[in-house]
Amino acid sequence: MTDATLQRLFHLRTYGCQMNVHDSEKISNLLYHAGYRATDSADAADLLIINTCSIRDKAEQHLYSDLGRLRDWKGEGARRVLAVAGCVAQQEGDSLLVRFPHVDFVFGTHNLRFVAAMASAAERGSRTARVDETDSVERFDLPQRHPDFGGESVGRAYVTVMEGCDMFCSFCIVPTTRGREISRATAGIVAEAEALAASGVREITLLGQTVNAYGRHDARRGHAEERGTASFSQLLRRLAAIPGLDRIRYTSPHPLFFDDDLVRVHAEVDAVCPHVHLPLQSGSDSVLTDMRRRYGRDDFRRTADALRKAKPDIAITTDLIVGFPGESDADFRDTLDLVRDIAFVDGFSFKYSPRPGTSALRLDRPAVPPDEAQERLEELQSLLRSLTLKAHRARVGGTTEVLVEGPSRRGGGQLKGRDPYHRVVNFETPEGLSAPKAGDFATVRVVDATPHSLIALAVS
Ligand code: SF4
Repeated sequence: MTDATLQRLFHLRTYGCQMNVHDSEKISNLLYHAGYRATDSADAADLLIINTCSIRDKAEQHLYSDLGRLRDWKGEGARRVLAVAGCVAQQEGDSLLVRFPHVDFVFGTHNLRFVAAMASAAERGSRTARVDETDSVERFDLPQRHPDFGGESVGRAYVTVMEGCDMFCSFCIVPTTRGREISRATAGIVAEAEALAASGVREITLLGQTVNAYGRHDARRGHAEERGTASFSQLLRRLAAIPGLDRIRYTSPHPLFFDDDLVRVHAEVDAVCPHVHLPLQSGSDSVLTDMRRRYGRDDFRRTADALRKAKPDIAITTDLIVGFPGESDADFRDTLDLVRDIAFVDGFSFKYSPRPGTSALRLDRPAVPPDEAQERLEELQSLLRSLTLKAHRARVGGTTEVLVEGPSRRGGGQLKGRDPYHRVVNFETPEGLSAPKAGDFATVRVVDATPHSLIALAVS
């Protein structure tokens, strides 16, 4: 038992994708098992960790401003420890210790398990950086989750199935910050999902940088049996058989790895949600070639069509980049056309951000002027908003099932949750019905639509 007077408090700030959010849950668990307790207040904390994102330059600059502001925090307590984790840590390593003398330790994406040891070394005055890469599956063996840090929200949880990426898209820093592709044994994933279901989790999201590439290297090298990895579609079928697990999602797949069986899973397995986040990035064949995406616009359209044929109501969302070097106005028009044609239900869109060490920096293509990139982004976002609103309006009058997350930001006693299509639903519970709790399912009737959410009334 830890003496309360000696108990250390940690405060964790997380930037970036679901992978980082889940890594922060793992860091929290590791610290909890080492006797630390979490605090929402930086002022109360003995240990402050920033889990960083480097996918765009803006996210990285945000870290540097944050670190600048934390000089005072560090100076206010002799025993305070400041650490940097995540993708910028992996990318910059010990140069962060040189540039920011008030940072005590730096640990990369393959070194989460050392967090407690590094924190205690820092308390003794040792400043260290651990950013070595490992191709060992040991890094998946982390302590069981604590209920306070174990899930995205009540009733939902992330489960890592693979890490790293071997695709080397020319704009992307992830292969540098997350390392080579490695898949976790199927038995360990199933055991984790069973434990989550037994603890009341109803929905899991499988995580991986190219999640549907799960197991591919082991199969290709003839190591699948030895490593205990099934194919991704077999994994989904195994997980869907777990009693109590009502919903399974996965993110982010690569369009290249949708084989026939994965498409069939969407038709045949009810627990797999009717939603796929399918990153397109660009609708121009020449830009896709320069991006090294390894598919063309027709290949992408074929995958989307196959998914719709298998599951006609499936919601397809996407990621898009505008202003990639050499992107002409005609290339951008190709993107708009394909976005309209596929009728994405939603999408994240960004301006291209040059990242260190990526092959796009060596492309002999003219840069798109910032004003033009901004105009393209605004036009694309306006199209995406109109597609979302159209898809949402088409749902008015229908019923759907919501996994309740908690109070809605709209206030007035409304609740919020997500439906199987991953749409945000804000809903009221009419008098006479008891309001569901976070983690419950509620059946609701959609009565209105905005570009951000469905508005609904609970019916049971
Ligand atoms: S598939 Fe491409 S965009 Fe996705 S993580 Fe790998 S390199 Fe990055």
